[in-house]
Amino acid sequence: MEFDLIDRIRARVASRDDVVLGIGDDAAILEVAPGRQLVVAADTLNAGVHFPHGTAAADIGWKALAVNLSDLAAMGAEPAWCTLSLSLPEADAEWLDGFLDGFLELAGAHRVALVGGDTTRGPLSIGVTVHGLVEPGGALRRDGARAGDDIWVSGTLGDAAGALALLQRPEPVVAAACEAGPVLAAGPADATDEALPRLRPRLDRPTPRVQLGRGLAGLAHAAVDVSDGLLADLAHVCRASGVGAGIDIDALPCSAALRDAFDEGERRSLQAGGGDDYELCFTAPADRRERIEALGAATGVALARVGRVVDGAGVVARDRSGAPWTPGRAGYAHFAEPFAPAPG
Ligand code: ADP
Ligand code: MG
Repeated sequence: MEFDLIDRIRARVASRDDVVLGIGDDAAILEVAPGRQLVVAADTLNAGVHFPHGTAAADIGWKALAVNLSDLAAMGAEPAWCTLSLSLPEADAEWLDGFLDGFLELAGAHRVALVGGDTTRGPLSIGVTVHGLVEPGGALRRDGARAGDDIWVSGTLGDAAGALALLQRPEPVVAAACEAGPVLAAGPADATDEALPRLRPRLDRPTPRVQLGRGLAGLAHAAVDVSDGLLADLAHVCRASGVGAGIDIDALPCSAALRDAFDEGERRSLQAGGGDDYELCFTAPADRRERIEALGAATGVALARVGRVVDGAGVVARDRSGAPWTPGRAGYAHFAEPFAPAPG
């Protein structure tokens, strides 16, 4: 069964000139261009932990590669090759075809060649390793932030966590069976019905900011992709760089969909603490603002200045009144818990 699946994968992958030997041997052979450094990242997605049970196969395929390309983007690297370790409960060719639709659509968009992997039976889990290239010493790291740097964020924050919060919201009590006749479901259900289709694509099909990241190499001092939540990921940058950060909570970029679906308190918590956005957070000196804005325009990605790197340690968020802001427990509770295990 395993070989049929591998043949199915092999029949659909596109190659590149620098792939000397792709799928089919014991290992792949890749030609690294002279004078370039190899950048390697790996991320695994487990069913029920990294995507909800019942997520479409094509969306899982897209996301498995997207979260890895996002790591390369945060390093300022040009993606080149990837490998795929698939653990599948059964040899389901239809599921695999759907998975490949999403995976290879994104791979094609970034000219990433799938050059090998492993296929085993087990609980649904997808491990991807990506390889990218940078000029020697040109990678964007977490340890380069300096006091006085602006802190920037791409796109909008909180949509993916907002979708997850809506998916995990308890079913509303529908009083349709009540003797007085049918009663419409109350407000929150309606809001969920409208908001989920607008937010869910950000959870299922994140956009890795690859072009932006490559442009930031040489422009930004430090960068990280927002996978665990802005405050948590920015704290990694601060720790690695030996600095602190001040964030203006009201400056965090927000989609109209998120604004419509949540009140201000929830929204702030989702934006500052929600994961899975795969936007880039980066720091750069203030005299590079114009060049950064030009890069945002050239790559078609909105960029927002959300704070400042300071001497010291830790990340402090403040609201528009200047008062320190801490995430409400309600906002955090939505994504503190992992998904429930598979039913049945
Ligand atoms: P081996 O037993 O030598 O590890 P496999 O049967 O696992 O060989 O794999 C055969 C070939 O198919 C290898 O080139 C491997 O890289 C490739 N391959 C296996 N699974 C995948 C996958 N999920 N995606 C891409 N290539 C795969
Ligand atoms: Mg193998």
